[in-house]
Amino acid sequence: MRETSQPMVDKVAIIGAGPGGLATAIALRKQGIDAHVYEKAREFRPVGAGVSLKPNGLRCIDAIKPGLVNKLRRLGFQVQRTTLKTSTGETVWTTKTPINSKDKELTFAIWWWHLQRILASELPSEVIHLNHRCVSFEQNEKTVTTQFENGKTVEVDLLIGADGINSRVREILIGDRQPTYSGSMCWRAIVDYRDELLLPDEGLIIRGEKTAMILYPLGEGKMNWSAGKLFPESFVCPSAAEVKFRVLKEFSNWMKPILQMIEETDAESILEAPICKRLPLQQWSYGRVTLLGDAVHGMSPGGGQGANTTFEDAYELAECLYNFPDLKTALANYDKRRLQRTVVIQNYSEKMEKLAYKSIQEQNKQSEQNFAEFERWLFDYDPKSESRLKPWKEKVVI
Ligand SMILES: Cc1cc2nc3c(=O)[nH]c(=O)nc-3n(C[C@H](O)[C@H](O)[C@H](O)COP(=O)(O)OP(=O)(O)OC[C@H]3O[C@@H](n4cnc5c(N)ncnc54)[C@H](O)[C@@H]3O)c2cc1C
Repeated sequence: MRETSQPMVDKVAIIGAGPGGLATAIALRKQGIDAHVYEKAREFRPVGAGVSLKPNGLRCIDAIKPGLVNKLRRLGFQVQRTTLKTSTGETVWTTKTPINSKDKELTFAIWWWHLQRILASELPSEVIHLNHRCVSFEQNEKTVTTQFENGKTVEVDLLIGADGINSRVREILIGDRQPTYSGSMCWRAIVDYRDELLLPDEGLIIRGEKTAMILYPLGEGKMNWSAGKLFPESFVCPSAAEVKFRVLKEFSNWMKPILQMIEETDAESILEAPICKRLPLQQWSYGRVTLLGDAVHGMSPGGGQGANTTFEDAYELAECLYNFPDLKTALANYDKRRLQRTVVIQNYSEKMEKLAYKSIQEQNKQSEQNFAEFERWLFDYDPKSESRLKPWKEKVVI
């Protein structure tokens, strides 16, 4: 424990105004640290699709800023039943409330843009610097100097790379380049709710040949669709019109209402992305620079844990900066707390992603039972309890 209530670092630069960067800034400013967020986008726009927020992530948000979860919940949506269908429309099963009742209040989906907007609104506007793309940084024993594409520089005590899966900070810090392609492409969009496809409180999973889709309501008359297909190589279309044409082609043998929904989706709103992950690192922090979120442990969306583990990082980093006597020890402990857990969750996410493309019979065989114990460990993560730092029982080799 530090013997003074003075923060261990005065000035912090956080690269990236995604969920991770914004949550970290909120947590650090609460400690009196002058944390600023630098974002490459010129403005916050209504982008992204639905993001699942789960008990482990939401408990960390609540610990960072009590009351914030309620603000998010007001704009989020919780499904009450889940249905599995074949691509031609036959129902395989329907379950009511797939969520453990203990976690009921702590699971909902929200539009990525709403999440970003609400987190940003918790910060003074002058500490979020848009149109600041980080291009490089240099550090010495006393300071880190960060350069931006617009010619500006900042000098701080600590630099945090929360700049997503294609992190520039990681590239400079570690020296590795592109994220690793996981073998599937994904397309997502937010559209007006369509009652011919799903009930107002229903999540729908649809399985086809090497293809999969998830649909769920997002509230305010909107719904999210997210489609995926296995591809040996990743390929991104050059224009919005070509993206839409491609999705229609890949799903052409699917039931009519789905094709109609894709047909009526504004091409510009369809996000196309290769599913990628980041290979685990032995160490996240070097000197006065550290990483967080997708920048360090970008993972397949199958486990719905990208944003949730990022909130865990934000909480633990702030906690370590508050509780340990010096920066070196604080960052070493941050790495220690996060390394094993995030690798295990990356592996789980990859398994869940692969499972989505297995036949329905195979999926039923690898029943939920297999994951029940693991998911308790995953979702029970609670900042109020020391037991959150207990590693998963299986050894992980990085
Ligand atoms: C635009 C966008 C939309 C997304 N939509 C969804 C979604 O709909 N559903 C879902 O499940 N997940 C979505 N994700 C991913 C999801 O939010 C992340 O997995 C997770 O929340 C981890 O958050 P993060 O803060 O680590 O990274 P991210 O959410 O990726 O945020 C990183 C931020 O850093 C900024 N940035 C990148 N490079 C630089 C640089 N050099 N200099 C300055 N800023 C930089 C990016 O613009 C971004 O705002 C989206 C990510 C982005 C960027």
